[in-house]
Amino acid sequence: MGRIYLLDVTNRDGVQTARLGLSKLAKTMINIYLNEMGVFQSEFGFPTTRHESHYLRANLKLAEMGVLQPIRLEGWLRATVDDVETAYRLVPNIKHLNLSISTSRQMIMGKFKGTKSEQDILTMAAEAIDAARSHGAETVGINAEDASRTDTDFLLRFALMGRERGADRFRYCDTLGYDNPFTIYNTCKLLAEEVGIPIETHCHGDLGMAVGNSVAGAMGIIDGGQDAYINTTVNGVGERAGNADMVAVVLALRKSKELAKKYKFGTPIKLSVAWKICKYASYAFGVPIPINQPGVGANAFAHASGIHADGVLKDPQNYELYDYKELGRGEPEQVETGREICSGEYGGTAGFRHIMGKMEVSFKDRDEAERVLELARYANVLAQKPLVEDELKFIAKYPDIAKELMTIAPLE
Ligand SMILES: [Zn+2]
Repeated sequence: MGRIYLLDVTNRDGVQTARLGLSKLAKTMINIYLNEMGVFQSEFGFPTTRHESHYLRANLKLAEMGVLQPIRLEGWLRATVDDVETAYRLVPNIKHLNLSISTSRQMIMGKFKGTKSEQDILTMAAEAIDAARSHGAETVGINAEDASRTDTDFLLRFALMGRERGADRFRYCDTLGYDNPFTIYNTCKLLAEEVGIPIETHCHGDLGMAVGNSVAGAMGIIDGGQDAYINTTVNGVGERAGNADMVAVVLALRKSKELAKKYKFGTPIKLSVAWKICKYASYAFGVPIPINQPGVGANAFAHASGIHADGVLKDPQNYELYDYKELGRGEPEQVETGREICSGEYGGTAGFRHIMGKMEVSFKDRDEAERVLELARYANVLAQKPLVEDELKFIAKYPDIAKELMTIAPLE
C-alpha cells in the first residue's frame, strides 16, 4: 500500500506569488519549521536565480550539518539542459531537482507560439533529465505544467518518457485549479497504474478545491499502487488563489470520514508545529491568517451562539472535530504592551544586548556580540521588520551560515 508524503512548495510557489515574498532568512526559518513538522521535502528555491545562490548553498550546508535533516531540499527549474547546467554551476551541491515543462496544447501553442511540437517537449525533458543525472542528481522529479488540461494520451507518453529516463517521480500539476476531486482521482489513479512511479499532486485554488483535489489525487495515486507526494504551502499561499494549505491537507487526511484508515503518511507529521509555522509564515509574508482558516484561524475553535456554546461546553466533540492542542494551540503567548526594544537595521549594542538577554542568549565576549549584532542589522535590512526570537537565536547560533545566506551580490 502506497504512503503519503508532504512536499512543501512555500519557498518556491509561495514566494513567486504576486505581492508576496520572503527574506532569505525567513525562507531558511520555513525550512527549519517544515523539518520540525515532519514534512518530507521542501522545494526550497530556484537554483538558476542568482540572488538565491548563497541562500541555497547555505541551506545545503545546514543539511550537511544535520540541522536540516531528515528533510530533503529540492530545487525547481525549467526542464532544459541550459537550466540544469546553470543550476549546477551556481549550486554545485544540489542533490534533488524538479524539472518543469508545459505539456498542454494550450501552453505549448500559447507559450511556445508554434515553435515546439509535442515531440520537442518530450526531447527537451528527456535531455534535461539526462543532464541532471550526469551532474549527479540523487533524485529527479519531472513536472508536467498544466497537466490537468493536457490530453491524457500525451500526458501518459510524457510520464512514461520520464520513467524510462530514470525520473524518480512525476508531478501532476493542476496549474490553474481546473480539476475537481473526481477528475483528479481518476487521472492520478490511471497515471499511477500506467506509469508505475510515485506521483505528486500540485493543486491550486482557483475554484476553491485545492485541498480537496490534493486529497482526492493522493487517494487515486495510492489506489493505483504508488506513493503520493502532495505539494502544499503554509497558509495556502501561492499563485493567484493559492496552493493547497498544508495544515488543512494534514487535517483532512487525519480527520475526514474514513480517510485515515486507508491513506496513511509515510513520515510522522507533527501537527503540533502547525500553530508556530502558520503564525511565523503569516508574519514573514505580512499576510494575516484568515479568521476562518482550518485549524489555525482565530475562529477555528471559537463559539458564540447559544446552542453551540452550550454544546461545546458539555462536550467539545459536539461541535469540534479535533482539539486545538493537536495544532499546538492553547499555550499562553506573551505580547508586549508597554515599552519595547525591537531589532532594527540601525540598532545598537545596548538595545541588542537587552533583546538577546531577554531570550537568555549570552555572548562570550564583546566581539562576538558585535558580530551577531551586525548580522542582525543585515537581516533587518532584508526583512524590513523586527526579527522574531527564533530568527535572532538562529543568527546567534549559526553566524557563519547566517552571513552566507544573507549575502546578496548583484551582477556577481
Ligand atoms: Zn503552482
